[in-house]
Amino acid sequence: MEIRFKCKKCNKENIIEVDDEIDITGNKNLLTELLNSDYFKHKCAYCDEDNLIIYPLLIKDSFHKFYIRLNPENKKLVLIDTQEAYKIRIVKVLNELSEKLRIFNSFLDDEYIESIKYQIKKDLEEHNDNLKIDNIYFYKVEKGFLYFILFDKENYLGSMKYNVAGYFKLEEKFKDKINKLEQVIDEDYIIRNKLF
Ligand SMILES: [Zn+2]
Repeated sequence: MEIRFKCKKCNKENIIEVDDEIDITGNKNLLTELLNSDYFKHKCAYCDEDNLIIYPLLIKDSFHKFYIRLNPENKKLVLIDTQEAYKIRIVKVLNELSEKLRIFNSFLDDEYIESIKYQIKKDLEEHNDNLKIDNIYFYKVEKGFLYFILFDKENYLGSMKYNVAGYFKLEEKFKDKINKLEQVIDEDYIIRNKLF
């Protein structure tokens, strides 16, 4: 697909050819580029400036069995015809994309991760006056703990860890309530379905 962007530095229009679908199965380099957003950086042909260009992109991984659709314009999606074993997700921003990639590459399910995020946020806000957490993201799993990073509107607030055993308890509790056809798994989904 051909896209046009105006360079943020010299303001000249660039026309580039990008893939609207990529397969990242077993491709560690591509995964890293997506995780750190390098994939979306395009050099201006006139001044060499790196421009971060976000466009609709479908990412497929047939080992971890997911499709993630980066859908920045929030356009209505045409459903992808696929086998039921695949998770299909829609995300709007790069932070959400990286998070989903980290979750699925850690062999975790985002429904339970979102539930944990909701609980952590609620707990912290209830016990700390004036604290408002705007974003919380799954970061990694290590030595029996899941790690989350927290932000308010502007700042990084810190990280929290959560015992993996708690994750498995949630899985046990909610596995029959998960709607496998749902494509947007976020805080709203958790609240709507009372998965907390
Ligand atoms: Zn330029």
